[in-house]
Amino acid sequence: LTSAEQAVLDEIEEKGVDFLRLQFTDILGTVKNVAVPARQAEKAFAEGIYFDGSSIEGFVRIQESDMRLVPDPETFAVLPWRQKDDSAAGRMICDVYDTSTGEPFEGDPRRVLKDAIERAEEMGYEVNFAPEPEFFMFEEDEDGYATTETADHGGYFDVAPKDLASDVRRDIIYGLEEMGFEIEASHHEVARGQYEINFEYDDALSTADNVATFRTVVRAIAAQHDLHATFMPKPIPKINGSGMHTHQSLFTEDGENAFHDEDDEFDLSDTAHSYLAGILEHAPAITAVTNPTVNSYKRLVPGYEAPVYVAWSDRNRSALIRKPAARVPAASRIEARFPDPSCNPYLAFAVMLHAGLDGIEKDLECPDPVRENIYEFDEEKREEYGIETLPSNLGEAVDALEEDEVVLEALGEHVGPKFIEAKSQEFEDYLVDVSQWELDRYLETY
Ligand code: GLN
Ligand code: MG
Ligand code: MG
Ligand code: MG
Repeated sequence: LTSAEQAVLDEIEEKGVDFLRLQFTDILGTVKNVAVPARQAEKAFAEGIYFDGSSIEGFVRIQESDMRLVPDPETFAVLPWRQKDDSAAGRMICDVYDTSTGEPFEGDPRRVLKDAIERAEEMGYEVNFAPEPEFFMFEEDEDGYATTETADHGGYFDVAPKDLASDVRRDIIYGLEEMGFEIEASHHEVARGQYEINFEYDDALSTADNVATFRTVVRAIAAQHDLHATFMPKPIPKINGSGMHTHQSLFTEDGENAFHDEDDEFDLSDTAHSYLAGILEHAPAITAVTNPTVNSYKRLVPGYEAPVYVAWSDRNRSALIRKPAARVPAASRIEARFPDPSCNPYLAFAVMLHAGLDGIEKDLECPDPVRENIYEFDEEKREEYGIETLPSNLGEAVDALEEDEVVLEALGEHVGPKFIEAKSQEFEDYLVDVSQWELDRYLETY
């Protein structure tokens, strides 16, 4: 056993952990668990735990359904939302292996991100990501089903007593801290019932793990208060939706921020400019992954602080990418404002990273920032500035993905086609549905 593995065994003993949840995510970003008695931990480290992957979204074909989970000891945490008199349960995030080859399984989203990070490392970079996930909390009805009634009527940065859900948020933060999160800030967002909790930046893999954990913890603790937390991007029309802004920077192996350049007007190095240009170039295809639901595109409309146009800015929040002010050189970074929290964080980070690295490799030219409010541009002005529009629905995004070699390669030969298949089907299902809007608008008119 490694020392990290031994430390997990000690903690299991010390905290009286009876059960272990071995966690991984499917292609759609849903967290899956296999629960094993805690005494299996040593065996799990040594040889992994076998499970049947045939029922997991996009994982395997029926005839080759055996998978092996190998827990990452660095991700061990005791679950905070169990009642004190229950026995303790722990969890570890796992890498998935293919039992027929013994190799890491290509369809494991964590593997896809590790490949992207490896590419960055080969180019001499360490990768830092920090997300800002937003979410709503809604009341449940008498039967415990989620409604879209918000638990409070507060607004941006409001404080109690208007912000009734602040108690719940405090419990969520305690829970996250118990699981090892460094919480930077937590506030009420613009919309009623909407919140944001920011956690400390970390390497890209840990941050993706954190997003998966974050969503689980937020939902579980909200549920203890009879609230339904949702990361659906646009649950209520005509008010702000929920984004997951993702801050990104590359560091050199000797700990210098490769994005920082104090002589540059925007405090961005050539490397940062090319990285940014790479994301802009591949943005339409990337959105299929960072904004992967039909509902995602109801958020990406003008007027609600979410981006619609492919441009960057050092000032304006209507742009796809913003350069936030940095107090110290280490903090120079770019902020991608288009991702939303319904994405699979592993895949979302992987495609943005690959696109950025591709920009660096090809030394792509970065366009000038746009300092005006792009929502107010008409088509002519957008043309003059050479500003493209993001896909306006999931179908267009999937089409863009199918055309984009760089982003497809980022997903890999297994995940790419499976993802396209699942998302095309999802969009088809939506197209043939008849919505409440249509009934309201047409049923009595025609
Ligand atoms: N909710 C907005 C979005 O959809 C962001 C608002 C903010 O963080 N300023 O991205
Ligand atoms: Mg924020
Ligand atoms: Mg926000
Ligand atoms: Mg932000």
